[in-house]
Amino acid sequence: MLSSHSGFQRSSQIALSRSRFLRLAAGALLPFVGLRASVAAVPNPELAQNSGASGTKDAAASSRTGGILVNQFGPVKIHSYLSPADGFHVSTQMIEGPTAVVIFDGQLLLPYADEVASYVQTLGKPVERIILSHAHTDHWSGLQVLTERFADARVFALDGIADQLHARGQARLDSFRPIYGDRIATKVTVPTEVIAEGVQRIDGITYDFRRFVDAESDLQLAALLPEQKVLMAFDLVFSPNEHAFTVVDHFDHWMIVLEQLKALQGYDTITIGHDTPVHRSVIESTISYVKRAKEIHAASADAKTYSESLKAAFPERQQAAWVDFSASLLYAAPR
Ligand SMILES: [Zn+2]
Repeated sequence: MLSSHSGFQRSSQIALSRSRFLRLAAGALLPFVGLRASVAAVPNPELAQNSGASGTKDAAASSRTGGILVNQFGPVKIHSYLSPADGFHVSTQMIEGPTAVVIFDGQLLLPYADEVASYVQTLGKPVERIILSHAHTDHWSGLQVLTERFADARVFALDGIADQLHARGQARLDSFRPIYGDRIATKVTVPTEVIAEGVQRIDGITYDFRRFVDAESDLQLAALLPEQKVLMAFDLVFSPNEHAFTVVDHFDHWMIVLEQLKALQGYDTITIGHDTPVHRSVIESTISYVKRAKEIHAASADAKTYSESLKAAFPERQQAAWVDFSASLLYAAPR
């Protein structure tokens, strides 16, 4: 667990120095020195003072193993939970508006979804809805816990995601079971509501929901928050500190999608599906990564060659195990 802890600390500091993310509401494992260093990197101390969840009772913080970043935009706070590394560093975003919370994504491992739920409860507002960004297991397994803890919250996803989970969800859980045992979901939580593309307001916050196909996954939601100038990119954009998942051969179209995101003006802060939020410059480094992965895929006859070459091409990136995981799926028989 120590390695994941130090990884979070490192990426947090990088992210903070590049974005407006202001306050680290850390879990128990994060030493106070990490918090001080991060806050020192914030260019506007007045904003730093006003940000965060200070004043709320967060009794679970002392035992929490994941990390939480809070970014405030007037009446809106974005809380980003980051799981330890054994949960793939999945980030759950909690958008806190004036009267409610919207949760995006549900974690891979149930104990981390439980940490998310306990944290949300400290905010003292009802969960208006839960939104799933795409059908990869690391983002929906933990919805089992969130829907138990927030029984009134409806679960939304793009049209087509529920069909994917009906078709392949149980098989994916079964494939994770030997590794994670009872920390993985026992049942598939299928979204019951379709999220409409385009602009809508939820709890006074404007969202512009976008649908993307054939990138990191077959079907991926992204959300723009035009008033906060935040792009929620989920697994379209990956941290410069970590490898990306390349589980399907959509390299060319993924790069087209990234160029579309790059063309969005003014969205400097990007929340991502794994690791802490990043600056928009990370779109470019994700393009470079995907481009290199495409070249290596074209030149590699098997998973082992692909994996070794990609790791050698990006030796500074963490989470090398994700490359092995990706290669095993990328070179598996078409499903
Ligand atoms: Zn993911």
